[in-house]
Amino acid sequence: MKKVAVLGSTGSIGTQTLDIIEQNRDKLKVHSLVAYSNEKLLSRQVDCFAPHYSALISQKGKNCLIEAVEGADVAVVATSGITALECVLFCLDNGIDVAIANKETLVCAGELVMSKMGKAKLFPIDSEHCAIRECLLGHNGRVNKILLTASGGPFWDIPSDSLANVTAEQALKHPNWNMGQKITVDSATMMNKSLEVVEAKFLFGIPAEQIQIVVHRQSVVHSMVEFANGEVVAQLATADMRLPIQLALLGEEGNFSCKSVDFARLLTLTFEQCDFDKFPCARLGYEIWNYPPLCRTVMNGANDVCVESFLRGKLSFDAFYNIILTAVKHFENEARRAELNVDNICLFDRRAKEYTRKLINGELC
Ligand code: NDP
Ligand code: MG
Repeated sequence: MKKVAVLGSTGSIGTQTLDIIEQNRDKLKVHSLVAYSNEKLLSRQVDCFAPHYSALISQKGKNCLIEAVEGADVAVVATSGITALECVLFCLDNGIDVAIANKETLVCAGELVMSKMGKAKLFPIDSEHCAIRECLLGHNGRVNKILLTASGGPFWDIPSDSLANVTAEQALKHPNWNMGQKITVDSATMMNKSLEVVEAKFLFGIPAEQIQIVVHRQSVVHSMVEFANGEVVAQLATADMRLPIQLALLGEEGNFSCKSVDFARLLTLTFEQCDFDKFPCARLGYEIWNYPPLCRTVMNGANDVCVESFLRGKLSFDAFYNIILTAVKHFENEARRAELNVDNICLFDRRAKEYTRKLINGELC
């Protein structure tokens, strides 16, 4: 029986994790549940799963994440932002495996996280990264490149000049996936792919130039790996996050099966180049390597604030890239002089957010 700490249990990934645990009651047990502030849902989950520990971060602070993982075999990290950073490092130091959905932690602290590998394992839940891991399993060849698939989001087909006027309501209608609001907006701007390029670089130790974004509207191919001999291995499945969650927790041994891909009805699988002019946020995952490591925290924090402002109707959809880049450039020199450690990541996250809010509110010239 594997004891699972579910961090962010009330969110989209958290609730689907509980579904997978429920379907694998013979193999998995909820050890602890942590949410941010959704007391009602957390208490329903506590009634249902009787965990050994539960807490709300809004009441107990982020240290409760560490209390939640003590004694667990694996932690599912499905919180938003970088709140779980210290907890992820704690798990890896203490031999607790980590199944990570939360990409922001890897974006900001990839070097710190990957330097802790040894005592415990790290399993990606993000569908593309889970797919890449699957593609690599059993293949020893040298990797030529990773083909990171992207759905293109709700605005792939609309004319570029309409992008300035799209609304939060439109952005929240993802064509293929049902996810939390923040990542759904990231998918619409394609900032999600930039975060995923950084995530893949750290997880698989591959330079960003060897990671190619391929737009694949059907979200059936979850990513591919091209080896030095030209062989390409892909993972295909219907779009259901419960598969990567189960793969991360149990490998091939889980009881859950997603719906079969219906090749008879699936008319075409299409692949297109990413349009970086129309979706400049997708460029940031490549451009950010020209800046010092803490600028990734600035990029991530600035994007968080852009998403928040866009959802409140305070920022136009086509403004994200320039705002994020302005914030990155503003902190570049300071970031170059500062060491990459947890304290500085938290500091730059807070300051980048403050700066970006002022930038958006027109309080800076
Ligand atoms: P949701 O918004 O649905 O859920 C977020 C969870 O984190 C909730 O449990 C929420 O608690 C909690 N939370 C809210 N605010 C904070 C905070 N400040 N600090 C810590 N925790 C907080 O998000 P998703 O489930 O969609 O995404 C979670 C993570 O997984 C993200 O990093 C995302 O990028 C990643 N991911 C998600 C995918 C998906 O399909 N949804 C796919 C791939 C990656 P409460 O409910 O109490 O507010
Ligand atoms: Mg993804």
